[in-house]
Amino acid sequence: MKTAIYPGSFDPVTNGHLNIIERAAKNFDRLIVCVMFNVEKKPMFTPEERVELIRRVTGHIPNIEVCCSDQLLADFAREQGCSVIVKGLRAVSDFEREFQMALINHKLNPGLDTMFLTAEHQFMYLSSSAVKEMARYHVDLRDFLPAEIIPDFTARMAELN
Ligand code: ADP
Repeated sequence: MKTAIYPGSFDPVTNGHLNIIERAAKNFDRLIVCVMFNVEKKPMFTPEERVELIRRVTGHIPNIEVCCSDQLLADFAREQGCSVIVKGLRAVSDFEREFQMALINHKLNPGLDTMFLTAEHQFMYLSSSAVKEMARYHVDLRDFLPAEIIPDFTARMAELN
């Protein structure tokens, strides 16, 4: 059984993430979407909340599991019997960092390779932080976030501002 991990912050999950999840799930027997703890980012949602939001919008995909982890990704993958990390590549701006992380993860776990899916053109510019910025100016978010999570997102934005 071929398992892949799609790691990220997902704070919150966007339509761009969902597009990568749907495409990756078609190409592997099992896809683990893993919310990774990132000490450098001040998150809007807790890891558990982010897991719940991802589960809510991926109910139609049978072969995925959603979880969170504070482990090193290379160790988490080893534990899960997983040899592939899936990443989404938006613009050239993603490349440098993703290339470095792919090399580091391979060095830490030589059984682990990173595969990149290019972003769909309509999601090239989309990131969780861009959505937060747009929300501050009350932009209609339906092109950017799955409809099922917009109420949670706008409520949390209002609490934080
Ligand atoms: P961000 O906070 O920038 O949205 P994440 O850490 O949540 O980033 O992203 C996890 C992974 O998903 C990364 O590989 C990132 O490049 C990818 N990704 C994020 N947004 C998109 C998008 N709009 N289209 C394709 N891939 C994306």
